Amino acid sequence: MNTKRDPIRYLGEEYQRLAEEGLTWEPRELQGASKPVSKVDGREVIVLCSNNYLNLSTHPNVVEAMVRATEKYGAGAGSDRSIAGDTSLHRKLDRRLAEFKDAPSSLTFQTGFMTNQGVVAQLAGEGDLYVSDELNHGSIIDGMRLTKADKAIYKHKDVDDLARLMEEAETHQPAYQHIWIVTDGVFSMDGDLAPLPEIADIAAEHGAGVYVDDAHGEGVLGEGGRGIVNHFDLTRDQVHAEMGTFSKAFGIVGGHLSGSEELTKFAMNKARTWLLSGALPPSVAAATIAAIEVMENEPERVERVWKNREYFLQEMKSLGFDTGHSETPIVPIMCGESKTAKKLADYVWKEGLYVLPIVYPMVARGMARIRVQLCSEHTQAQLDEAIQAFKKGGEQIGLI
Ligand SMILES: *Cc1c(COP(=O)(O)O)cnc(C)c1O
Repeated sequence: MNTKRDPIRYLGEEYQRLAEEGLTWEPRELQGASKPVSKVDGREVIVLCSNNYLNLSTHPNVVEAMVRATEKYGAGAGSDRSIAGDTSLHRKLDRRLAEFKDAPSSLTFQTGFMTNQGVVAQLAGEGDLYVSDELNHGSIIDGMRLTKADKAIYKHKDVDDLARLMEEAETHQPAYQHIWIVTDGVFSMDGDLAPLPEIADIAAEHGAGVYVDDAHGEGVLGEGGRGIVNHFDLTRDQVHAEMGTFSKAFGIVGGHLSGSEELTKFAMNKARTWLLSGALPPSVAAATIAAIEVMENEPERVERVWKNREYFLQEMKSLGFDTGHSETPIVPIMCGESKTAKKLADYVWKEGLYVLPIVYPMVARGMARIRVQLCSEHTQAQLDEAIQAFKKGGEQIGLI
């Protein structure tokens, strides 16, 4: 009998180690709907850390579509989309999303994570190469890990470094069959944008594919929130694969892959997360279709989220806060040490703000921050209250 091995003890030890380093993640409890002001851990607080950029999760049309579809189609799809769960609503969502995105084709998945993991795992394999931004989302990283493709990582947003790696790739023997450049569109911790037009140019020179993760760009960037490909006025011949999520600006849950017919047909037949896992409830598809319609009919929501972002950013800057490299409604408040970010988050929580400290290992050591995310339905009064709380907290802990 091997008494050294123990299947459970190390789990507790690992948790203890994380706790000692102050790295455990303990989410607060949301006790009602996700709104600009929500009940969290028993208190009404201004929520500045939700991905619900357009506040569509509580939009009456979206909620009604979900309830109605549940009544008609039941609670679950009964199967994977690939078997017996591909309802008319799932197919309609594919078509409506492709129209919204102005893409030849879209395929919806259960989550954005599963889209990346399933698709990236199949696009490239042995004899191929992925070239990836160093700050790409974990779901892309996991997808790449599932392949036998080579991986080259370029410095964050550094197109010279990318060009250099691509030149180097040309000398590889035997020649790579396929090369994909993969990038987040909006980087979630800094709120900065990928230099997608330059990336597309470099890719075109080498016959490489471009895969962009638009999770934080949809609903925010481009005409009426159509996303980053629209924002930069790029074509589907320049950006070959665009993925996104319905869990952020769309306010619900789900993921998608958009691009050519060849791309979505390939994904449908190869991505194991699509083939081997249960379909989204039909009601979720119906609600997402309703959310697309709200985006089309109420483009002022997108304008409001940008107006709120401009106001908050300028006020925070004028107070002396370092807001990093934000180019979107994600506004980091740079704090340096993890302790400082935690202190500031605790202080403003007492003042009625819900924000999250983002610390190592989510960001590099010494780059801890509070990540603020603005929504379209935050009022000016709520933003002023938030700014005042940050001002007091920032002064109290000596950050400004
Ligand atoms: C949130 C996010 C995802 C995952 O999307 P889900 O639909 O929530 O699984 C993927 N990529 C990026 C960049 C994200 O921010």
